[in-house]
Amino acid sequence: MNKYIVTFAPPTPNGDLHVGHLSGPYLAADVYTRSRRLMGDDVLFVSYSDDYQSYLLKKSVETGSTPDAVCKKYYKKIVKSLESVNINTDSFISTINNQYFKDAVKLFYSSAVDNDMIDIGEFPVGYCSRCNVYGYESFGRAECNFCGSSSDLSQCENCAYPPDIEQVKEIKCSLCKNDMVMVKGHQEYIKIDQCYEYITELMAFNKTRKALSEFVRKITNSTIKKWPISRDNEYGVDGITMPENRRIHTWFSGIAGYYASSLALDTSVGKNTATNYWKDKNTTIACFVGYDCAFSHAIVYPSLLKNIDMFTNKIKIFTNYFLKLNGEDFSTSRGHAIWLSDIVKEVDPDFLRLYVAAYSPEEECDNFETLDLYRFLNVKIYPVLDSLISGVKINNVGHVDSNSVDILVKDIVDRYKDKWLFAIGPSTFSMKNIALIIIDVIKESNSDNNFNQNDLAFLLIFIAYISLPVMPVFSKKILLSFNVDEKELLNIFTNKNIDFKFIIDHKKLPKCTYIKKSYLDNICNITDSVLA
Ligand SMILES: [Zn+2]
Ligand SMILES: [Zn+2]
Repeated sequence: MNKYIVTFAPPTPNGDLHVGHLSGPYLAADVYTRSRRLMGDDVLFVSYSDDYQSYLLKKSVETGSTPDAVCKKYYKKIVKSLESVNINTDSFISTINNQYFKDAVKLFYSSAVDNDMIDIGEFPVGYCSRCNVYGYESFGRAECNFCGSSSDLSQCENCAYPPDIEQVKEIKCSLCKNDMVMVKGHQEYIKIDQCYEYITELMAFNKTRKALSEFVRKITNSTIKKWPISRDNEYGVDGITMPENRRIHTWFSGIAGYYASSLALDTSVGKNTATNYWKDKNTTIACFVGYDCAFSHAIVYPSLLKNIDMFTNKIKIFTNYFLKLNGEDFSTSRGHAIWLSDIVKEVDPDFLRLYVAAYSPEEECDNFETLDLYRFLNVKIYPVLDSLISGVKINNVGHVDSNSVDILVKDIVDRYKDKWLFAIGPSTFSMKNIALIIIDVIKESNSDNNFNQNDLAFLLIFIAYISLPVMPVFSKKILLSFNVDEKELLNIFTNKNIDFKFIIDHKKLPKCTYIKKSYLDNICNITDSVLA
């Protein structure tokens, strides 16, 4: 049994979650957690809401509200949205004015100071006198000096590099769109080039995705030497450094946020339950993040973690790109988004998870098509599952012996089991591949073969088992209706015979809930001719 801490990048509570968010780190972290637990590993699943994000402050300025009020409103919505799609963390805290968070940031900051990682220097910063805001992050935009895209000045949303304020052009205020003037100020910074050798060593052991390995290789060979961590007169956690108006920004504090969430869990479930995972050198921390968080997670956090002797150093980062909606970027300001709270009223959350996982933008951007979702579930998936379910209902009792099932059924299992084990692997993990395997197996089960009831039962149980990480509720219902033990099913993958009698509990067998056409009409004005 191995130990894991699984985290997803903290959502900013300046809005609710939409399908684009789901496709990235949130669902992947949940599927990873469920996969590891299914294999018998011990997992702590934590995250938090990013209450000190600069964009949160911007939202409160724009709406004439306060950061506190904005956080409260959206934290609740985010928690509800995560639950609505069966993403169940062990701890998910709000960090604003949270003592655990402050303590955790202090711990990582002071250990970095003790290890001579931090210095102070003069840095220019954009300032807008009309709006009285500084262009550290959400209030300033410019052309990234590394890739040329429009970006804020903290992390480039396109190339994930931290833009160099002295080299970017045309810094504009994002509130009034006028040019910002440059003023001089002081910022504390991490002497990040000191960490490159260690990061290179670490990545050699922690290979996950190609894009991330390439990013780390480029950064550790770059001339970037300083990574500012404080901002004067901007938003951030108070009271960590001096003077009073100097605040540590949120990109420094991510690893502290995950630890703070564990500290909070200790208090609610008992002494050290959660923090013991951090203090076990064999624990692997698996972080799921958008590609734009690559610098903080893959370069900075492993270096901060290394400063604390009692903590594990083992950290793996899984990055993803971004999902488009019907071919365009998700945009909450233009209303081009599907909110989770809306779609779960129309689409079974487990099957939404299956579709989103299949189109997960792991290695490149992918696209969510509403019409395709409708066709996929109503035409390709639900009818096959329905016919399997009605096939096993013929008799109330049956007997599955994996040695005596039809050779075609055995062949399906043989062809997919190793691929599936690879897809759920701790380093080779891909929820996209898991979903594609499930979909292929479902499609292959849609044959005109004269499978008997026991063959159909075996197929259905196999589908349910491999779907447990992606479709937890639906799969559990199937396994429960056969009264079959999940642990016994692992034998399918080790060529051991499975032999059991079943009595079907019809009431427990799930039903597929087809998407109503009226939903499509509402959401994208699809005409009957397009559907035909
Ligand atoms: Zn860039
Ligand atoms: Zn302005």
